[in-house]
Amino acid sequence: AQRLFDPLRQFAEKFTAIQAGFTAVERVSDILDEPIEIRDPEYKIEGAATIATPQVGEIRFENVWFAYKDDDYVIKELSFTIKPGEKVALVGPTGAGKSSIIRLLCRLYEPSKGRILVDGINVKDLPQSELRRRMAVILQEGFLFAGDVKSNITLGDSYSMEEIRAAAEKTNVAQFIEQLPQTYDTQLRERGTNLSSGQKQLLAFARAAIRNPHILVLDEATASLDVRTEALIQDALDRLLVERTAIVIAHRLSTIRNVDRIFVLKRGELIESGSHEELLAQGGLYASLHNLQMLGS
Ligand code: ADP
Repeated sequence: AQRLFDPLRQFAEKFTAIQAGFTAVERVSDILDEPIEIRDPEYKIEGAATIATPQVGEIRFENVWFAYKDDDYVIKELSFTIKPGEKVALVGPTGAGKSSIIRLLCRLYEPSKGRILVDGINVKDLPQSELRRRMAVILQEGFLFAGDVKSNITLGDSYSMEEIRAAAEKTNVAQFIEQLPQTYDTQLRERGTNLSSGQKQLLAFARAAIRNPHILVLDEATASLDVRTEALIQDALDRLLVERTAIVIAHRLSTIRNVDRIFVLKRGELIESGSHEELLAQGGLYASLHNLQMLGS
């Protein structure tokens, strides 16, 4: 079902604007009607002590509380550690806080209390550019902007044609691109109306793959896809996840089964965590959501 107000759509547009290297604060405010208060730390990247820290891909939330307004907390006392290479799915009813967790991790908002650490560094102290280097974010629908296929993958960063092709191959989108009238130079429309939702997803995968980050943040698309596209996406996703830490808002049972741990959220609290089998055996919220097929809506 289509939501009238979709914060994640806004988030997608915001994040893409940042990724595209616009002056984030100004451009994003054009897109969103809410003020953006988070700015990069003052220091230059060259001078930042964080650069010397090896990238491993660990994510840690320490007693995180978060409210969009006043003390109306949508995330409550959240603590967890995701180890390098571990894959975690976030599940829970609509409004449970899954998207908010992702927004906090990407530093689109700051916690009201507590800390979020990536590779042991408080994300507050990581410049956006540095955070983006460590972490790729893929949102539902894979937002596109007006421009050619190539720049929708590179987002304006300098990559060779070889690297672009390799990323597309790896994510099962190369074959589709090769069939376009001007292949990698084909112009795409901003709303991506000339692409199917599956193709947009795969293109978003390619955009993440080329950056080769240690952490992948993914809000899986909910659109129903034909069997062939579904298989291409699952296969691309499996490959994309190899050797990366991943945090996924999972809408597909196949994805959920493949992760190492599932975090079940309810009204901003982490109420269950474990593997698919463990949680089913536990017979709690996960088990009932699973039976109702309402895992990640
Ligand atoms: P989920 O992704 O699990 O559906 P969200 O993180 O989107 O949950 O939402 C958690 C809570 O925060 C909900 O009560 C939702 O209404 C609220 N919320 C989400 N985005 C905003 C926002 N931009 N401003 C105020 N409240 C919000």
